[in-house]
Amino acid sequence: MSVLVYIESENNKFKKSSYEALSYGKALAEKMGVKVSGLVINCSDAESLKAYGPDKILKIDSQDLNEFSSKKYAHAIADVIKSENADVVVLSSTPDSKYLGAHLSGITDSPFVSNVVELPESINPFTVKRTCFTNKAFSLTEIISDTKIISIASNSFGVIENSNDSLAEEEIDIKSIDSDQRILNIEKESGSVTIADAEIVVSAGRGLKGPENWGMIEALAETLGAATACSKPVSDMGWRPHSEHVGQTGKPVSSNLYIAIGISGAIQHLAGINSSKVKVVINNDPEAPFFKAADYGVVGDAFEVVPSLIEKLKAR
Ligand code: FAD
Repeated sequence: MSVLVYIESENNKFKKSSYEALSYGKALAEKMGVKVSGLVINCSDAESLKAYGPDKILKIDSQDLNEFSSKKYAHAIADVIKSENADVVVLSSTPDSKYLGAHLSGITDSPFVSNVVELPESINPFTVKRTCFTNKAFSLTEIISDTKIISIASNSFGVIENSNDSLAEEEIDIKSIDSDQRILNIEKESGSVTIADAEIVVSAGRGLKGPENWGMIEALAETLGAATACSKPVSDMGWRPHSEHVGQTGKPVSSNLYIAIGISGAIQHLAGINSSKVKVVINNDPEAPFFKAADYGVVGDAFEVVPSLIEKLKAR
């Protein structure tokens, strides 16, 4: 019996959500009284994982897996689940892992339960708490299969250090993987911080009047080390790239701080940001629906509030 955590990486660096998944996997393994292994694909930075306490790091280096393909990755991970006799497979809640979880579920004939927010209430039966209805409610889900595939909602468990100095490493050879998926082109997000990994997101809407006014949004984001995001109409009108579109039909945001500027707070926008921790709203209409979901609200003209906020932050 063991717990297997798939540790996602990009450009030879692990994602923050991976450290969270590993922290969760370690705590789960302790609760179950079993070992936890971390699975790394094409990333040489295994040393940095020590701090999160895996008993073993399993490394796959394969040209076949140079680019992420959910099917190929799922086949590789499924082989490791078998060889490690893993009971629970822990994934992050990234877009890649959503596809991966579904494929793994099909290949291993095991259920995939996403958006888990806490350690299981009980191990036998294995019962996890997860968010549902775009984070508006929780459900308790009992998983009755032998292999359980779960993903951890971003920012729900936290990154917890629990060092293990006697970390073992093992190279895994995989057989060549055939797949009907082909990667034709990859378009990278242009911002220095991606929305999925960002601790802070500065997001703006139609209240900004036009793309020429985004300079102050970018300046605020740069001051805070934040990612920039926007509402759907803003990306639909081509003011900002589609990769920044947040909401029900865009990207979900689970940042620690979400600053919404000139965004009304329509239900479809809120659906994407519900799991962010602290929400700050800047809007000149005191009746804007977003204020109901805000932790802090500033009623004021964005063109006055944002420059003065940047000035104050820089002064600190
Ligand atoms: P508006 O609704 O026009 O709001 C602009 C806000 O700016 C207003 O509150 C106004 O008071 C404020 N404002 C104006 N001037 C200033 C100023 N000078 N200073 C400060 N504030 C100012 N939307 C999403 O965002 N994401 C989605 O994923 C999404 N999916 C959708 C899916 C469906 C099926 C449908 C039907 C709609 C979807 N929408 C989505 C659209 C959504 O319903 C709203 O229309 C949209 O979120 C509104 O964008 P907005 O807040 O930028 O613009």
